[in-house]
Amino acid sequence: LSCLSRNVMLKAVTRCLWSNPVAGRRKMSHHISPNLSGRVAIVTASTDGIGLAAAEALGQRGAHVVVSSRRQANVDKAVSLLRSKNIKVIGTTCNVGKAEDRDKLINLTIEQCGGVDILVSNAAVNPFFGNILESTEEVWDKILGVNVKASFLLTKQVVPHMEKRGGGSVVIVSSVAGYQPMQGLGPYSVSKTALLGLTKALAPDLAHSNIRINCVAPGIIKTRFSAALWENESMLEEFLKQTSIKRLGQPEDIGGVIAFLCSDEASYITGETITVTGGMNCRL
Ligand code: NAP
Repeated sequence: LSCLSRNVMLKAVTRCLWSNPVAGRRKMSHHISPNLSGRVAIVTASTDGIGLAAAEALGQRGAHVVVSSRRQANVDKAVSLLRSKNIKVIGTTCNVGKAEDRDKLINLTIEQCGGVDILVSNAAVNPFFGNILESTEEVWDKILGVNVKASFLLTKQVVPHMEKRGGGSVVIVSSVAGYQPMQGLGPYSVSKTALLGLTKALAPDLAHSNIRINCVAPGIIKTRFSAALWENESMLEEFLKQTSIKRLGQPEDIGGVIAFLCSDEASYITGETITVTGGMNCRL
């Protein structure tokens, strides 16, 4: 090797090994086009974390958003936060695992917003951490009921309303754990894999009604839900080793991708899952 090409190679290798803490940093606020104005968006589990960020991203693009979660106090707080940012928003309590709550959410949306164009199914629970062989039937019923079944039932329920508007868009929030089960989170991981399947299974049928359905698989995002993973220094260090962008994800990193998938910019994307992981190695 000539001296020059050896130097180039060395530089390239050093660049690869060098962990850059500012890579992937979000730039200062930029202009966001109101490409969702006139649309109505239901986001489940949207009073905190990724759901709240998705509601904000959709609202910033002009959508009228409907936020919800189990606790009224959380709903009130999210509604006033979003209103303070000039976002058109209403809210209600909705535990997605309860049929009567799902009905209430849809009915309120139709009554107060006149229809629905977008559904973001974001709610998930994880009541179990440990060896998968120790997980009980009750655990499986709860995890599959909230994470998978409710996503399907909500989608089914919004379809006729979206058809009335000539089409729509559904986004389901899965996880990187859906591709590679996380240790200690077996049943939860399986539920997130099921959502990748649900997205693919629904896409052809929904396409007949001009409804696109896609999925987002976040990596490790700094929220209360994932606190057990990032509060512990050595665990955090382990996770960061697996990413290219050496920081935890922020809810806003996911919100923008969800809003993109709901927009006409994504008009030819359906049945797809976008991983948003800072470069974690989770699939080809
Ligand atoms: P989070 O910040 O802890 O927020 C959870 C939200 O869900 C809260 O608004 C909570 O409000 C609501 N909620 C909980 N159970 C609910 C239920 N049964 N019905 C309706 N709302 C419910 O959580 P997050 O990290 O943003 O997680 C959101 C989604 O992202 C989940 O699907 C999760 O699996 C996925 N995800 C997260 C990460 C991560 O690293 N954080 C990574 C991959 C995927 P109430 O308490 O008022 O109900």
